[in-house]
Amino acid sequence: MPNNEHGPDTPPLQEVTGSLARVERGKLCSGCGGCALVAPASIHMELQPPGFLRPVQTGPVSAAEDARIARICPGLGQSVSAGGRTDDAIWGPYLAMRTGHATDERLRFAASSGGALSAVLTHLLETGEVDAVIQTAAAPALPIANIAVLSETASAVQEAAGSRYAPSAPLAGLAPLLEEERRFAFVGKPCDVAALRALAAEDARIDRRIPVMISFFCGGIPSQKGGEAVLAALGTDLATTVAFRYRGNGWPGHATATLRDGSQKSMTYHASWGGILSHHVQHRCKICADGTGTAADLVCADAWDSDARGYPVFDERDGVSLIVARTAKGAALLAEAERAARIVTEAFDPARLALIQPGQLNRRRALLARLAGLWILAKPIPRYRGLHLVTAARQNPLLRNIKNALGMVRRGLTGRIG
Ligand SMILES: Cc1cc2nc3c(=O)[nH]c(=O)nc-3n(C[C@H](O)[C@H](O)[C@H](O)COP(=O)(O)OP(=O)(O)OC[C@H]3O[C@@H](n4cnc5c(N)ncnc54)[C@H](O)[C@@H]3O)c2cc1C
Ligand code: SF4
Ligand code: SF4
Repeated sequence: MPNNEHGPDTPPLQEVTGSLARVERGKLCSGCGGCALVAPASIHMELQPPGFLRPVQTGPVSAAEDARIARICPGLGQSVSAGGRTDDAIWGPYLAMRTGHATDERLRFAASSGGALSAVLTHLLETGEVDAVIQTAAAPALPIANIAVLSETASAVQEAAGSRYAPSAPLAGLAPLLEEERRFAFVGKPCDVAALRALAAEDARIDRRIPVMISFFCGGIPSQKGGEAVLAALGTDLATTVAFRYRGNGWPGHATATLRDGSQKSMTYHASWGGILSHHVQHRCKICADGTGTAADLVCADAWDSDARGYPVFDERDGVSLIVARTAKGAALLAEAERAARIVTEAFDPARLALIQPGQLNRRRALLARLAGLWILAKPIPRYRGLHLVTAARQNPLLRNIKNALGMVRRGLTGRIG
């Protein structure tokens, strides 16, 4: 897939205008690449300090393109419609929630959680439902970074399995694929899928070419500096590292750097994500209303165990994915993959989610107060519809809401937004 980095042949940069300027003013970009898909001749994605993928404008964006960017950009807003499905104020609309894992033990081991997401992709490829999967994998030239890849075989899907806590802009290079006759499954962050789904409402090629959209729970994207900080904590650096996994090869698996001499250095998921990467997450993720992928057909996450106090435990064990079917297509796909013995699943009580996903729960509860803080600072904020912000905020004690709002004001006043 074309990589959208700025090169010597690209025209000179110009100031971002219109919708992109509003995104920039609020530091609202999630880095999905949707605007580069809408206006590929004038916008591309580029790594910008401290290491996030951001749109760069090299030519004029037409009024029609700008209006379309305003409608699909997840930085500017998101609309969710339950349409008769069970609609949880925190976890969004869904048809079924189960836990499960890939029956292929190598895939289960290699993947982030139980490999359910990759097993469903394998099922889609091997039944001919799709010709290829658009997904994210390690960039060969910079193993802590990501590139979008097209996987056409089960082994390519397994190669790309595992969460990569680094920027990815999987929409940026989609334009040529929409001109093809092939059918694709798309895997992306919830904001990537929200943008693609919004674009599908006005570009009929998307539903024809990309009949399946899959996502995962997302606590936020750290900058490339975060990945570099993990390397430094491991006692290595970019020059010495030839391969890097953020996790996987076990559940949750270790962040593991493979060095030029073949040796490996690793640290636990708790130390890498909790101790380092989570401190490098971009501003947009702190005010994300959709870390659980409401626009996707199927969403996977970590089905952590919880201890006696109800906190998630990260002891190494055989992986288990939480699987949320959000659409009829997602529910059918889940059932077919299980019938074909690609995955096995078990019943899951959605009430357990609050225990095993405290990060998602607390962020949703704090969201309205954080947006209020930004409103006080006169910063642009995303327009969320159908995401039950008030109901979620009512679950937050009043004092905590005040603290969350003041915390955001303090961040703004001390220059820590973006
Ligand atoms: C940035 C990030 C934040 C996360 N936050 C949470 C969270 O808050 N709660 C939680 O339960 N789990 C979180 N996860 C883990 C994610 O939920 C697991 O991938 C999920 O548990 C599915 O596991 P699996 O074994 O079924 O998936 P796998 O079979 O391992 O498949 C993972 C898929 O994700 C794709 N992928 C990996 N990294 C990226 C990326 N940066 N951008 C786009 N696609 C990518 C891969 O291409 C692959 O298709 C996060 C993952 C990421 C990348
Ligand atoms: S969030 Fe996506 S669509 Fe919006 S400005 Fe950023 S890259 Fe472009
Ligand atoms: S937390 Fe939300 S905005 Fe940030 S990368 Fe994940 S889905 Fe996108």
